[in-house]
Amino acid sequence: MKTFANTNARTLDQAIKTIQQAGKDGQTASLVGGGSDLLGLVKEFIVKPDVLVNLKTIKGLDQVTPAAGGVNIGGLITLDSLGSHPLIRSQYTVLAEAAETVATPQIRNVGTLAGNVCQRPWCWYFRNGFPCLKNGGETCFSVIGENRFHAIFGGGPSYIVHPSDTAPALVALDAKFRVVGPSGERMVPAAEFFVLPRQDVARENVLAADEVLAGVQLPSASPGRRSTYNKVLDREAWTHAVVSAAVVLDMDNEICKSARIVLGGVAPIPWRLPSVESILAGQRITPELAAKAGEAAIAGAQKLSKNGYKVSMTKALVRRTLLALVTRA
Ligand SMILES: Cc1cc2nc3c(=O)[nH]c(=O)nc-3n(C[C@H](O)[C@H](O)[C@H](O)COP(=O)(O)OP(=O)(O)OC[C@H]3O[C@@H](n4cnc5c(N)ncnc54)[C@H](O)[C@@H]3O)c2cc1C
Ligand code: SF4
Repeated sequence: MKTFANTNARTLDQAIKTIQQAGKDGQTASLVGGGSDLLGLVKEFIVKPDVLVNLKTIKGLDQVTPAAGGVNIGGLITLDSLGSHPLIRSQYTVLAEAAETVATPQIRNVGTLAGNVCQRPWCWYFRNGFPCLKNGGETCFSVIGENRFHAIFGGGPSYIVHPSDTAPALVALDAKFRVVGPSGERMVPAAEFFVLPRQDVARENVLAADEVLAGVQLPSASPGRRSTYNKVLDREAWTHAVVSAAVVLDMDNEICKSARIVLGGVAPIPWRLPSVESILAGQRITPELAAKAGEAAIAGAQKLSKNGYKVSMTKALVRRTLLALVTRA
């Protein structure tokens, strides 16, 4: 591990100024929440910061605060606190369920919501320091190499999948991300926060190096809302989604007024399915309609040499998640 200095930021302003000062001094700085992702990258020399800016020392950024028109969630809230928060559990169930599927209790106790959303890819080549596109090289080794866990939608020139469990839930809930930087604050819709490799292969989101994800804002949940997060793993714990589905249904008795369906584990960004949502709008969700939705969910999927199983898994997951949600008491 390369040696680095640690700075405990007391305010967002101080965190941003520390990053800027590092830049002026010809150094690099990395933000750190729980460190459960970043420190692994530092240990493997994938990220080589001179300065770590610890955000957990900023007071008040770990709260859930009801607000007019919804709720504000601080980016430094731990996944454990988020998953067990009564308001999130009752009104934003999909987010609570997503948070509680992450990794292990130990990681959920330190890992933060912002760190979860901003974690780097877990592609084997990237994490092991291969000189691929994400590591500043000129090729993607997964195209002809190991690609069992790679993208079936939106891939190229890198085929990573976005690893965050909370990100599909936040897109499904129509969240806005509060981004704070040197020139102030901006609110970015969750769906516009994530960046495809074909837009910029070096990064996964729109954050500039001197910007901080300070929190998220969720709009009020409508009466009749039901939501859930369903995640398929290749083992029982400790790992990312092979495929996941965040589903939000606004119901009027047994009729689905509107739906939002966002997949995880299948694309370099949380992958929304607008065509499936329109099949469901205004309909009673029967087993036949859920099967039709599952079929529509895989339209346009492009498999690599070893990840074709994800196509049938996605179809089944969408169908089963819809049926489970409409029959949930
Ligand atoms: C064994 C293991 C299993 C895992 N399983 C899962 C899983 O099942 N699902 C899942 O989603 N994740 C998983 N993770 C990934 C990750 O550790 C967790 O998602 C965790 O939530 C990351 O949060 P953190 O606060 O520890 O992030 P950190 O490690 O502190 O930061 C992660 C990244 O985000 C940046 N960052 C942190 N905070 C901010 C901020 N406020 N603004 C801007 N950038 C920021 C950092 O610079 C870094 O690049 C796993 C990790 C491990 C080691
Ligand atoms: S999928 Fe992305 S991270 Fe993995 S080898 Fe290809 S370029 Fe690198």
